[in-house]
Amino acid sequence: MKRKPKCAYCGKEGRSKEHIFPGWLLRKTPTYELKFNKTKGRVSPDENTVRDVCKPCNNGPLSQLDDYARVLYETYWSKIVREEVEFEYDYIGLTRWLLKVSFNSARQQKSSAKSFEALIPYMLGEDLDPPGEVLFFLDVIRPFEGMWGGENVVIEPRDHRCGKMFLKDIPSFKSVREGRFIAIDSFYFYIMFLDAPGDEAAYGKIAADISPSCVRLTAAAQAVTIQPTRDYLEMKLPEVGMNLDAYLEGYHRFVVKDKAPKRSELRSK
Ligand SMILES: [Zn+2]
Repeated sequence: MKRKPKCAYCGKEGRSKEHIFPGWLLRKTPTYELKFNKTKGRVSPDENTVRDVCKPCNNGPLSQLDDYARVLYETYWSKIVREEVEFEYDYIGLTRWLLKVSFNSARQQKSSAKSFEALIPYMLGEDLDPPGEVLFFLDVIRPFEGMWGGENVVIEPRDHRCGKMFLKDIPSFKSVREGRFIAIDSFYFYIMFLDAPGDEAAYGKIAADISPSCVRLTAAAQAVTIQPTRDYLEMKLPEVGMNLDAYLEGYHRFVVKDKAPKRSELRSK
């Protein structure tokens, strides 16, 4: 008999389907699963799931984290940020969720998930001491407003994605072993794994090198105020690159006009 796969969290046998971003978020934002595919040069559906999570972990501690993220979504993330915003958070609840999403995404993208292994008890809520060598940052992104195709366009940050950061070769990032990001509409979270803890000044430089408006989230503060300095197109350009027109076309058709085609329609093309 074939052995059942082991859960990435508790190591016990079992499997179930876990979305990288929670199911309730995907249902609220059905067009967001349409991603720009660079190779194909068009927008197509992209369902991100992992299957190496057992039911007790998935339906227990991990689903409780999704419940807390839902509160944050309703209160903050669902609103497009245009000016200064105040964000209040429960540090442990938020950072456990960010790590969980990031850990799932690392496995789904088949990149190394080593940085997360020691944090599994924290994600599961078995150890509630926040990790000292992992930093969390937040920046908010405002919509792009400008010209495209002879028209004035406004492109709101409407997508959710996560992945590994490309860390520029600059001094403040030298102490960072790995950087990951999670974007939900206007909210851009960054997770930085350090080799050893640093000091406040070093952390401040890391934040400033991510962006002038980026701030570090701390267990002590539980609230931050941010004035956005970057717009959505600045964030998308490195990803979209030369295919900007195709991206904007897809964005207008699927997101602005909210006319998502049927999946079968997209696949048959
Ligand atoms: Zn498990």
